[in-house]
Amino acid sequence: FRGQVTLDGPSGTGKSSVARAVAARLGAAYLDTGAMYRAATVAVIDAGVDPDDADAVARVVAGARIEVGTAAGVEQVEVDGADVAERIRGAEVTRNVSAVSAVPAVRRQLVDQQRALVASADAVVVEGRDIGTVVLPDATLKVYLTAAPEVRAQRRAGQLGIGDPAEVAALAADLRRRDEYDSSRADSPLRPAADAVVVDSTDLDREAVVDRVVDLALS
Ligand code: C5P
Repeated sequence: FRGQVTLDGPSGTGKSSVARAVAARLGAAYLDTGAMYRAATVAVIDAGVDPDDADAVARVVAGARIEVGTAAGVEQVEVDGADVAERIRGAEVTRNVSAVSAVPAVRRQLVDQQRALVASADAVVVEGRDIGTVVLPDATLKVYLTAAPEVRAQRRAGQLGIGDPAEVAALAADLRRRDEYDSSRADSPLRPAADAVVVDSTDLDREAVVDRVVDLALS
């Protein structure tokens, strides 16, 4: 395979694990753009800046060195040389990432960086929200992955080892809140590109989704 596969969709669809597996199967590089917005959020938190202060957020992120790896097998995420691969998955970052990623200057900066990162790759899988619509409008294959919110909350609970129904309900509420926030903006990235293939994973396991995307890429 040579070319660019974009994998967009809301959180909790299993997008990341599908994207990594597809990249491995295709022998392609992999870019997790959500990790970049999460790393930017770490910079904002550490600067002690209010995530809702757009000007301050833009200033902090402009001055931060955000580095992410593009190897499918290893997760490398750094802010100003510090390893933040674990921290970006924490609750504080997850709570604040929507506000940081809503700042237009932050999006412009990270989109430029994303295009530069994939420019040199013969084959790459890029995962996010706006990859097919904004970042790589001429991609070889665009996939938009969806799933019912309840299913997404259940999957996330499984990953986190949570069994308590009240906690699962709280996860579902958080997913809905982030979906609404991410899609409430005028320039909302949370919609499929006109030429995207929509894959609904509500009734598919991960392997079936991976097979489907790999088949699409190779056809
Ligand atoms: O995919 P992940 O859940 O790690 O993304 C974290 C957040 O980053 C999303 O909730 C969204 O607010 C933002 N994001 C974005 N554009 C992307 C990728 C992620 O706005 N391309």
